[in-house]
Parts: sequence; C-alpha cells; structure tokens
Amino acid sequence: MTETIAYTKPSITELEVSYAEDAARHGWGSKCYDYIIKFEALFRDHIGVAYGIATSSCTGAMQMGLAAMDIGHGDEVILADTNWIATAAPIVHLGATPVFVDILADSWCIDPEAAEKAITPRTRAIIATHLYGNLCDMDALLELGDRHGIPIIEDAAEAIGARYRGRAAGSMGLFSTFSFHGTKTLTTGEGGMFLTSNADLYEKVLTLSNHGRARQQDKQFWADVVGYKFKMSNVQAALGCGQMERITELTDRKRAILHAYKAELGSLNGVSMNPEPGHVLSGAWMPTVVFDDNLGIRRDQIQAAFKSARIDARVFFYPLSAQPMFEPVRENKTAWSICERAINLPSFHDMTDHDIFRVCRVVEDLVQG
Ligand SMILES: *Cc1c(COP(=O)(O)O)cnc(C)c1O
Repeated sequence: MTETIAYTKPSITELEVSYAEDAARHGWGSKCYDYIIKFEALFRDHIGVAYGIATSSCTGAMQMGLAAMDIGHGDEVILADTNWIATAAPIVHLGATPVFVDILADSWCIDPEAAEKAITPRTRAIIATHLYGNLCDMDALLELGDRHGIPIIEDAAEAIGARYRGRAAGSMGLFSTFSFHGTKTLTTGEGGMFLTSNADLYEKVLTLSNHGRARQQDKQFWADVVGYKFKMSNVQAALGCGQMERITELTDRKRAILHAYKAELGSLNGVSMNPEPGHVLSGAWMPTVVFDDNLGIRRDQIQAAFKSARIDARVFFYPLSAQPMFEPVRENKTAWSICERAINLPSFHDMTDHDIFRVCRVVEDLVQG
C-alpha cells in the first residue's frame, strides 16, 4: 500500500536528544535556566535583535507584547484577515478589537493600503504576519507606521529563515514573535519567543513573563503587577539549542523543497506559488499552490484529490472574519477568494524526491483535469 505523506514533521537528531537528555538529567537547581538563557541568546543573535524572552508559545509572546504596550479596552489592532487565530486571540483577550483587512494577491500578506485605510484614532498597532514564510511589504508598512505614529509588530511564527532586503524577518518591527510548535521550521515541541530591540518594552515583558515580578525586586513571593506565566522549560530550550546548531540546515531544506516544487509546478498555467521578488528570501515554511479563479478548481475537489493520493495537504487559512466569533468582512475579497482555491503542500525536512514527485502529480492532474 502507498505510504501516506505527512504535511509537516520535525527533524530531531541525536544532537537535540542528547541536549534534552542532559537537561532532564542535570538541568535542575542552579542549572534550571542554563539552556533557556543559551537558547534566548542564540536565537536573538541569529535574528539580529537586542533582547529575547523564551515563552511557552508564540501566542503567549504576542499577548505579553501587546499587554506591555498597554493595549486594552477601546483600542484597535489592525491585522490581515488571512491569519491563524493565534494572532487575533491575544487582542481579544486583552479586551481590544481586531480589525481585519485584506491581503495582497501575490504575497498573501497584509495589504498596506487597506491597513492605512483602516486606521482610526483608536488604532494602537498593526500586526504584520509573514504568511507561510512569505514577507509582508515592510517598506510600505514601516513608512505608514512612521507617518501615523503607529508601531508595526511582526508575527514571524512562520518566517524563520526569511529575509527582507537582507534583514531577518522578526528584526524590523517594534517587537516580533516566533513559534516553535511541532509544525514550525524550528521546534521545541511547544514554545515561542518574544524579540525586541526596545529596552523598555523588554523590561516590561520580562516582568509580565515572570508573574509580574520585576527582576530588581528582592522581596520573595512579591509581585509588582499582575502578570502571566508563559515560560519555556529548560528541557524544551535544550531541544531548541540543538535545533539552533542546525538552523541553516533546517531553513535551507525548507527553501530547497519550495524550489523543487516550483521547478516542477511553476510553469503550469494558472498556478502560482510563494513569490520571491528580488529583495525577498522566502522562509518557505509552507509551499503553497494557488489556482487561478478561472480554472474553477475548488477546496473540496483539491482536498479529495490529495486524500485519495494519500497525501496530507492542508487548506489555506480561512479568513478570521468568516469564523463564528467575528463579524464577516466580505470587502476583504482577496482573503475570501484565495482560500477557496489554494492548498499547502507537504514540506517536512526528510521528505524524498519521490514524495515531491507524488505531490506534484496531484497538482498537475488537477490542472490538466
Ligand atoms: C503557529 C502560529 C502562531 C502560534 O504559535 P503557537 O506557538 O502555537 O502559539 C501564531 N501566528 C502564526 C502566524 C502561526 O503560524
């Protein structure tokens, strides 16, 4: 029987296992933060920012960053309608309002013009999610952010390895967040990172991340503000240190898989994939195929074709505003249209050329009817 092709799967070697084992055996007492401190330093240096705080998830990192900006009731935060729910949930939890705007047809990331039109006196931030490893139009976003005095925040959960004019994704906003969930390019099982080069914001998030206990506070069991408990464990960080030693290998492989797909599918009429304009290096987290509207190929048909080929491909994000807890924003036409006719292709580190060939056959058969 043909084997099922998974859509993501982490690459864990003896190196990661040996660090995790060391943390489990010895990383206690006075050593209980050693791997965490090391992982934070390796990661922030890799991205090129001054400060990093390892967290239990990207969602937690986002919530603490927004909380440190004092975002709450009456405030609005602009983000793309095409997003994972994790980007919107922290805004809602803080009592603020997510404002969903449309995406660009080529990068599937937030449309800067739509973002600018959505600005009101209540707007406190714009979140730039680098979707599937593609890059937001950071020149336009940073420029309009400057002009309106509104900070740009990067949700870089999907963008490890991505670069924009030579700058790493996650190094350009007021702060950025990363995810090390098991499906991401670098994994610690669950986990995330808050990054910033802003010293004040760093101090605030550090305090929030430690149950609201400021680091200068020498009274025991004394909190200065009501904070959070979104920390990463030492064992998870040990896995992360192993993954960081292999970060170039991990991101290069993602890009090689995207390029193998593009070599095979890029010339098919009516098919587009993750774009890489000259100033952009894609992180290639999720190689994605979008079928032109006029081909008439739709989600159910795409899913059925992959299912019968025993390939675990995933649907493109539904617009957040299409989901029951929000009001639909049908003006976000591109976000509402692309998700009807697109699919994420498998892209795990150890997939073979034959796996890629099998995936390409399904796409080709769909297009050629
Ligand atoms: C994975 C992901 C998150 C959430 O990451 P967690 O670590 O699971 O909280 C947030 N935003 C985007 C864009 C993601 O892809």
